[in-house]
Amino acid sequence: MIILCATGNIHKKAEFTNLLPAHEILIPEDLSLDFQVEETGATFCENALIKASSLYSQTCKPVIADDSGICVDALDGAPGIYSARYGNDVLPPEAGFKERCALLLDRMSTQANRSARFVCALVYYYEKDRFVVFQETVEGRIALSSSGTGGFGYDPVFFLPEYNRTMAELTNEEKNRISHRGKAARRLSSFLENV
Ligand code: IMP
Repeated sequence: MIILCATGNIHKKAEFTNLLPAHEILIPEDLSLDFQVEETGATFCENALIKASSLYSQTCKPVIADDSGICVDALDGAPGIYSARYGNDVLPPEAGFKERCALLLDRMSTQANRSARFVCALVYYYEKDRFVVFQETVEGRIALSSSGTGGFGYDPVFFLPEYNRTMAELTNEEKNRISHRGKAARRLSSFLENV
């Protein structure tokens, strides 16, 4: 089945393509659709639903939307739902994830508690007013320095003690096996097999 993914993030598209191999994942850009939506929710779940319902209204086709981010305990859960724009108030407009990771490391420099988690709220919106949500996490720690080139976003600063590596040092298969997105996508996959 073709599933539209409400994102402009090509890394998310690539991960969902691997995670849902029985389906073809297309993003708005693939269909030359102009898809822009303001993420005004107060939670990952609300934002995922805003994105999914908006693309569903535009297309009337089955849609997935993932809202995700990194939550750091010592920073009271920040960046959280603001992960994609973390530091916009202090970083130059052209700042990318290298700079956001550096800012996070800087703000964590005096913190002893480095526990953190990635969260993924995944909405599957399949008919008018019919949807399911799967929310999953992966636990880790904020590394002392950035390391690795895989993945995207905060992967280079997310350290997994049981692997003794950051998320960016895992292979795609390893990341998909343990990640917040991987867990949520597997739950969606079982749901799709049973409907
Ligand atoms: P969203 O597109 O509004 O859901 O923003 C998600 C943001 O959270 C991304 O831009 C990344 O900064 C961060 N993020 C979410 N998932 C991951 C991941 O798997 N690895 C690294 N960073 C992630």
